[in-house]
Amino acid sequence: MAERVPFMAGNWKCNTVLPEAVDLAKAVAKASEKASGVTVAVCAPAPFLAPVADALKGTKVALGGQDCHWEAGGAFTGAVSTAMLKSVGCEYVLSGHSERRSIFGDSDADVNKKTLKILEEGLKCILCIGELKEERESGETFNVCDVQLTEGLKGVSAEMMKNVVIAYEPVWAIGTGLTATPEVAQETHEYIRKWFVENYNQEVADNVIIQYGGSVNDANVDDLMACPDIDGALVGGASLKAESFSRIVNFNK
Ligand code: PEP
Repeated sequence: MAERVPFMAGNWKCNTVLPEAVDLAKAVAKASEKASGVTVAVCAPAPFLAPVADALKGTKVALGGQDCHWEAGGAFTGAVSTAMLKSVGCEYVLSGHSERRSIFGDSDADVNKKTLKILEEGLKCILCIGELKEERESGETFNVCDVQLTEGLKGVSAEMMKNVVIAYEPVWAIGTGLTATPEVAQETHEYIRKWFVENYNQEVADNVIIQYGGSVNDANVDDLMACPDIDGALVGGASLKAESFSRIVNFNK
């Protein structure tokens, strides 16, 4: 059985101004010093990636981008390419965050193109999936995950999966304070892991890191992390508070 290293990632979304971003990065780096056996990353706003990379230099905290374009570059005003992200020191890029899907209209096909481009660039992709409140209420959760995984991972081989992390984020739990209970989250994580057995192989399923996301905080992280198929967290709101994210990174093992 594979030993999956827990992975805690902060998603700062459209928050912070430059001095705050740099201070937060330094605080996360300090908090992570004593956290052993855990991978830590922060996905900072695009304009602050370079200074945040500087602040994280020599620390164990990796840098991530929150989104990217699937094209290599060119006349795409406002877009950020994977080459740009790589050149400022990103190791990870989010793909398919629910806010990109619902507010900016990213389709499963767009998410797939971004995922492939991230991997082609030699970066690691955090592919976000998850159901809406209505979909959960109508019993569609597993079906939604199936579609988003099938479409999002088109063309991604078992070998390429070594650079893919899945973030299961029930949309009704993101930024709402409504965390899925550990039981509810575990049930879907177990489904996702089995999906990888059926659609890839046992080795991929055993090794893939599946983060939970949705109002993770210092009070609920330990119970979530005690679930066998929850390998980490993608954290929005609480990642903006140095103290909370420090506690998350140093969850009770
Ligand atoms: C997220 O942004 O991916 C997220 C899970 O946000 P929050 O922790 O605020 O719910």
